[in-house]
Amino acid sequence: MFWTKVFIPTIKETPKEAESLSHQLLLRAGFVRMLMAGAYIYLPMGLRVLEKIQGIVRQEMNACGASELLLPALHPLELWQKTGRDKDLGQVMFQFQDRRGRKVTLGPTHEEVITDLLKNNLSSYRQLPLVLYQIQTKFRDEIRPRFGLIRACEFIMKDAYSFDQDQAGLDKNYKLMYEAYQRIFSRCGLKTLITEADSGVMGGKVSHEFMAPSPLGEDIVLFCSTCKLTRALSREKIENEAGSRHAEKETNNSCPNCHLEMARINTIEVGHIFKLDTKYSQAMQANFSDSSGQLKPLVMGCYGIGVSRLISAIIEQNNDTDGIIWPGQVAPFGIIILPLDVTNQEVMQAANSLYQELKANGLDVLFDDRDERAGVKFKDADLIGVPASIVIGKKSIGEKNIELRIRKDKSIQLIPRENAVKFITKLLS
Ligand SMILES: [Zn+2]
Repeated sequence: MFWTKVFIPTIKETPKEAESLSHQLLLRAGFVRMLMAGAYIYLPMGLRVLEKIQGIVRQEMNACGASELLLPALHPLELWQKTGRDKDLGQVMFQFQDRRGRKVTLGPTHEEVITDLLKNNLSSYRQLPLVLYQIQTKFRDEIRPRFGLIRACEFIMKDAYSFDQDQAGLDKNYKLMYEAYQRIFSRCGLKTLITEADSGVMGGKVSHEFMAPSPLGEDIVLFCSTCKLTRALSREKIENEAGSRHAEKETNNSCPNCHLEMARINTIEVGHIFKLDTKYSQAMQANFSDSSGQLKPLVMGCYGIGVSRLISAIIEQNNDTDGIIWPGQVAPFGIIILPLDVTNQEVMQAANSLYQELKANGLDVLFDDRDERAGVKFKDADLIGVPASIVIGKKSIGEKNIELRIRKDKSIQLIPRENAVKFITKLLS
């Protein structure tokens, strides 16, 4: 695609309203804009990254045998009253009345809706196990939206729900999801620590959190570098620490195995999986008949990934002083071609033929067709963080070799023009 057609409004100065590095870079590189606190516009570049992440999530969910559906964002409040979670979540839920006087809410999550769906449409053990997921917009009336996409009022999540006859079935699906999550984050170029966590308002007995280390993260994970034990520090403890000295002593955690001081690592929560057991199915009478004809509540698990938040977490871990460094699988484009003089016909011809060949090989190619100085083009290319670039100037016309620059380490390699397409395709796939 051509730069002038994509709409990439880059900004030179660091926006003052952005508190975090990822938020600054998303604004400067022209990926997002804020509509109001907590609500963001995904510009074409931001949407491309979002869709790459969603593609990875879909592949890995489908590989686990999960099936995609789409539930509405608008829910009758009545459903939430059945589990009492309208009270648990309280003011976090956007609630209002429609013109017919129905009390409705914008879903912050979907356990009630999906349990109700299964209650009305599944009756026999023969239909189990079943895993359903969606990628959808969620809403939370945050008192203090922060850090751009990291804590927003409107955000995109992948939420999956497993339904089984018994604990053994749940354990199996839980393990499949746990492993899929490891693959998803690794493919997104994200390092994560996995902790056993409090289930909080979701309920259930067992849960694991996938935490991406980042200095701005508000969740703290304790990590023993010797035995690799990983533990979440509860929110309550973090809040207490700020207040009292006594609490500080309590949370001065040493490793129970090695008796050495554990490192405190600031993290962003990017995924959370729960064994819900029968909490929701019992509250909503979502039952199935087992092989002996006896009615039993569905045994459930739920599995969330903060898809839009992932964009920020990836940037927090993949950047340098010049901008974003996208990991290959989530990059908005694989390569950018920079013709240095767009008024020179020979330069444009050479750039265009390379562009067409790379595109024909299935690569996502960005072509900087702007009539800008070389310095501006180089700076912007670094800022938007596309993994590789090729500069075509007057000098390169007629040369046997072209220069391929790798964004990550800024290394340059000379490759023969005749093999260039093959070489680049192999490098980027
Ligand atoms: Zn240890």
